[in-house]
Amino acid sequence: MKIYEDRNKTTRPIQCNYCYNEGHNKRNCPTMKAHWESNKHLDLKTITSDGLIGVDTTMFSKYYQNHFCDETARRQYIQHLSYMTKRFAPKSEANAKKRKKASCGFCGSKTHNRRNCSKLKNFVYVLNETNKVFRSQYYDRFIEGMGLGAGALIEQRMGDRWSDSNETTVSIVSAFPTESIMFTNMLRRWSDYHTTHSITTVPNGVSTRVNATDGFFFDKYIYENGNNHDRNTKLYGRFAYLYSGYGLILKVVSPAPNRPSKEWFMGQSPCFDFIVKKRSMSQILSECYHLIKALYPHNNLRTKLGAKTYDRYYTS
Ligand SMILES: [Zn+2]
Ligand SMILES: [Zn+2]
Repeated sequence: MKIYEDRNKTTRPIQCNYCYNEGHNKRNCPTMKAHWESNKHLDLKTITSDGLIGVDTTMFSKYYQNHFCDETARRQYIQHLSYMTKRFAPKSEANAKKRKKASCGFCGSKTHNRRNCSKLKNFVYVLNETNKVFRSQYYDRFIEGMGLGAGALIEQRMGDRWSDSNETTVSIVSAFPTESIMFTNMLRRWSDYHTTHSITTVPNGVSTRVNATDGFFFDKYIYENGNNHDRNTKLYGRFAYLYSGYGLILKVVSPAPNRPSKEWFMGQSPCFDFIVKKRSMSQILSECYHLIKALYPHNNLRTKLGAKTYDRYYTS
């Protein structure tokens, strides 16, 4: 996860989660503040994206404007509404006082702190169980099924991602970091919880990175003719995010000779203990709840998250 991989970085160029411009974060985003000022009179309960004033694609840099439309901008606003309300709406005195009392940074309870938080322990369990399902499916499909892995020979498209050239070459996969295969691969790459799974291949002796991330349609590793999202979803289900007409890998010519066993692969455990120390349950859930819902294999999610939290995210 980005938040984990960046834990020791001191000079990380910051990118705003709201306007995607660099050099500030959303806490200090002038665009967000301006958008809030023009729209704060709207009723939070009935607000719709077409009622927004002055929120359009010009909020993004020229580069992103090529990919995004006005609707993307309005969606950003709606998605950040609860954040903006918390940050900019005036707080009552009572609220301000309450906030000073010690409380659990993870679940918000006033009766314990993070260290004794049972919700935190349950949440780590939920993340791990969710991740296991993703990794198991990934393993069956790509490592066992397709033969991907370090040492595999693949047929790879030549030229850059944007070229239409049909020229291909056989190339070796020189690095295939299995520890970064996580359900958070499916998150948009701007998310703090996103993990990039990056494969290294060596077409014609030149080391090349092939990333798999959601977010940009060209940043996917397997070639699939055309970019028909609906068709890809039908064909590949949750793994559709790995396929695109800009993908580089056409097929595995010869499977990885020393693929890890599934047992070993499933034994690799990720850094969830780290993120629950850094972020609150609602921060993590607001970006991951849909993936947890789709993957978590047991029927006790409401018990594990707590009824109040569960209902907030999953019933509306
Ligand atoms: Zn910004
Ligand atoms: Zn707690």
